[in-house]
Amino acid sequence: MKAALVDFHCHLDLFPDLASAISAAETAGIYTLTVTTTPRAWPRNYDLTRKTKYIRAALGLHPQLVAERSAEIKLWEEYLPHARYVGEVGIDAGPQYYRSVDLQKEIFATILRKCAETGGKVLTVHSVRAATAVLDLIESHLPRHRGQVVLHWFTGSKSEARRAADLGCYFSVNAAMMRNERGCGLVAALPSDRLLTETDAPFTRADNRSTSPSDVKATVEALAALRRETPENMAHMISSNLRAVLGDAGAPLDD
Ligand SMILES: [Zn+2]
Repeated sequence: MKAALVDFHCHLDLFPDLASAISAAETAGIYTLTVTTTPRAWPRNYDLTRKTKYIRAALGLHPQLVAERSAEIKLWEEYLPHARYVGEVGIDAGPQYYRSVDLQKEIFATILRKCAETGGKVLTVHSVRAATAVLDLIESHLPRHRGQVVLHWFTGSKSEARRAADLGCYFSVNAAMMRNERGCGLVAALPSDRLLTETDAPFTRADNRSTSPSDVKATVEALAALRRETPENMAHMISSNLRAVLGDAGAPLDD
């Protein structure tokens, strides 16, 4: 049996047409987690994906939007009982967002605490220039048995990656992470049983166009080459890691 592909972090609601982006991923049979950047966007994403076999929607409050939208944490909390997947959430300490970093930390801590309270959530987490801060908050607020964290586009150091793995985190890897030497070194060092794939579509590019979930195929191939595996083995590994993240032996994205 051929293993199904996995795109564990993309933004289908930023495609020109959400419904057709969902149906393209569904037809291709790619297990896809589509994230939202504000809780206001979640109900429509949830409605359009809940009956699909392969696509699920995550309830997010993007760290880059926290400066203007921190008040939407109330709405995020209101929807949380209905959401199994949470994201995009986290911290961005890059130069453009650095000013709101304290507020971002506060919001992220609240999100982690609420997820710990309800239990059983799967989070896709942004940590640009903030790996240590993100890991500190996860360690303090989300005990390992109360939720599952997947670090999206992780660019921390190898020792931060080891710490993340020790805390139980997974890593969703995209093709852009393997386009420079430092990134390749980091991706090569991640533990095999913690790897997932993602595109972050439409924000990444392949062949001079913006990406879509089907571009994870090339990511699996690049990952396989980097780690000296066959693409088939790599795809199997990723799909069994997905099952482990979701903690059930049934259909990978059932909720
Ligand atoms: Zn994203």
